[in-house]
Amino acid sequence: MSTVPLLSPSDNGSPAKDKAKALRARIDENVEALAKAVDDVRASDTFKAYLDVQARFHQYSWHNSMLIMFQRPDATRVAGFQTWKKLGRFVRKGERGIMIFAPCPFHREERNEAGELEAVDGMFFKPAHVFDVTQTDGRELPDVECPTVEGSADGLLTALERVAIDRGIEVKAEALRAGQYGYADAGERIVIDPNHPTGQRATTLAHELAHCALHFGKTAESTVLTRNMAELEAEAVAYVVCRHFGLDTEVRSSAYIALWQGDRKGLRASLERIATTARTLIDDVEALDGAESGMAVAA
Ligand SMILES: [Zn+2]
Repeated sequence: MSTVPLLSPSDNGSPAKDKAKALRARIDENVEALAKAVDDVRASDTFKAYLDVQARFHQYSWHNSMLIMFQRPDATRVAGFQTWKKLGRFVRKGERGIMIFAPCPFHREERNEAGELEAVDGMFFKPAHVFDVTQTDGRELPDVECPTVEGSADGLLTALERVAIDRGIEVKAEALRAGQYGYADAGERIVIDPNHPTGQRATTLAHELAHCALHFGKTAESTVLTRNMAELEAEAVAYVVCRHFGLDTEVRSSAYIALWQGDRKGLRASLERIATTARTLIDDVEALDGAESGMAVAA
């Protein structure tokens, strides 16, 4: 069931245009509401303690994050040997590092065809090794809860699965480790843990669909985007889409984005990408056959 307010056609636009405008206004409103909720999480004491520690972790590029995920799918907090030492934790003997590519900027002088010296600036990447928190022992790290979305949203889940298939993305159910809900594999396959309420599964699926739409193509944005920004974008899209269909994910989404170091500024910076991706997803769900009868989201 669509929750877009039905507007009567105005003088300066078609009903379809008005509907699109109203939807965009609602998306902007929802992103603002999310920004407020994220700010509240960030203002809490638990979160401040968490941040102090989190600041020591490097922000990996989206591509390095994918390398980390393929080698160690359950990795959560990843850092180099020395960073762990500074945090009071030690990499256990015999643990194998996770290989990433560390960017190394270089500057050199080269002779051009005319025989003149020319400065060349560039970047090469050399393999480096990092370790997940589970490969270390030592001082406890402060943590912030990111609760599961309780309740069911069977209709929305089914609809999002159909949208994924229409987009050529395979959706697979697979039990994952505790605390993991799903992931997108090269933008072609989405894995969702079936052992969660359908409300959470719908949220996860919307989140992974957003990653597929935004982060797997080799565009200028996707190659420089940090994992933190990618997670902010994906979760904001999930929040907007779920909320549009009556499923409230605010508690989870705001904690999730705060945990990935997102804030109001980041949400605003990505507003166009979030809004466009969310709108396309909402449109695709509403365009499904039988969407009108099957979309009601149970609380
Ligand atoms: Zn994600």
